[in-house]
Amino acid sequence: MTPRHAIVAGGAGFLGSHLCDRLLEAGHRVTVLDNFSTGSRRNLEHLARHRRFKLREHDVVRPLPLDADGIFNFACPASPLHYQRNPVHTTLSSVVGVHNLLEQALRCGARIFQSSTSEVYGDPEVHPQVESYAGHVNIHGPRSCYDEGKRCAETLCFAYHRQHQVPVRIARIFNTYGPRMQPGDGRVVSNFIVQALRGDDITIYGAGEQTRSFCYVDDLIEGILRLMHAEVEGPLNLGNPRENTVLELAELVLRLVGSRSRLVFRPLPADDPKRRCPDIGRARRLLDWEPQVHLEDGLRETIAYFRRLLDVDRRVVSL
Ligand code: NAD
Ligand code: UDP
Repeated sequence: MTPRHAIVAGGAGFLGSHLCDRLLEAGHRVTVLDNFSTGSRRNLEHLARHRRFKLREHDVVRPLPLDADGIFNFACPASPLHYQRNPVHTTLSSVVGVHNLLEQALRCGARIFQSSTSEVYGDPEVHPQVESYAGHVNIHGPRSCYDEGKRCAETLCFAYHRQHQVPVRIARIFNTYGPRMQPGDGRVVSNFIVQALRGDDITIYGAGEQTRSFCYVDDLIEGILRLMHAEVEGPLNLGNPRENTVLELAELVLRLVGSRSRLVFRPLPADDPKRRCPDIGRARRLLDWEPQVHLEDGLRETIAYFRRLLDVDRRVVSL
């Protein structure tokens, strides 16, 4: 099923804005709902005059009756820096937000996509993480507003499916990077690139031995679209199965930028997961999907984006 009118909640953010581009290219009508807490109008300004595109300032914690064929939910801050700033609103954005969107899907018969996260696995004791792993989350920790919010959002999605037969699709998204990340949002890829471009110190948290698996945004969006169109039950991991340490990432960014920034070591945040890598066997089998973009190539694109962005900002400041 291809949605004719798609609602993209959180569409002014990094991932949502890329999805809007793909949906519009495919001929659909798109309405973005966003409260602009972490997203940016700049991510959507190239669509401002598009006749099939609408942007509404709206917080998903409040209901908004609006008909659609498909609903994509990205509305939640994704960077630890942002989601820990207002943990109450982060929890409500996930739980009350998805409840409102599920009610909307039920009312108008829409299919709904929920962007879940590898954080539902917490600091995992199973490696790589398979969808059947129940996770290891500290329910009181500083990350719990995000982790438990997303876990409860999955629960609500399946409850609506079981009780009301709402068609739901859930991707557990692993660390994704690319153009349109916010320069100040604190995530490792944007931090390292911006620090390297400015010649600032590169901040490694802990010894940098913790791992993440970095997926380029185009690969992820392709996976999301395939999932939305497929008949898949249960949550699905989407991410890159190639694992890197944070230190390896820092060294690669320095080399690609040609920067002489120094590495400095800062305390590791509480509950920071030590290892993270998806098992994407189900996505390979059910969607015939796997990431195509090599980390080095994706980083080159992302570096080029931040170079342009910082250049524009510098020119604006000097006017
Ligand atoms: P982002 O912060 O760039 O985008 C989130 C968007 O949602 C922003 O535009 C923000 O303004 C909006 N928003 C937040 N709370 C809202 C609310 N209550 N009502 C309306 N709009 C709201 O983050 P992103 O990286 O694009 O992530 C998008 C989604 O994907 C998030 O739900 C996140 O949890 C999930 N995810 C992302 C990653 C990743 O690596 N990027 C990994 C796992 C999961
Ligand atoms: N990190 C780091 N320096 C930074 C930002 C992050 O070393 O400037 C580390 C962070 O501690 C974590 C990893 O990089 O181990 C990924 O962090 P990010 O916030 O991007 O995502 P998440 O922790 O949610 O995977």
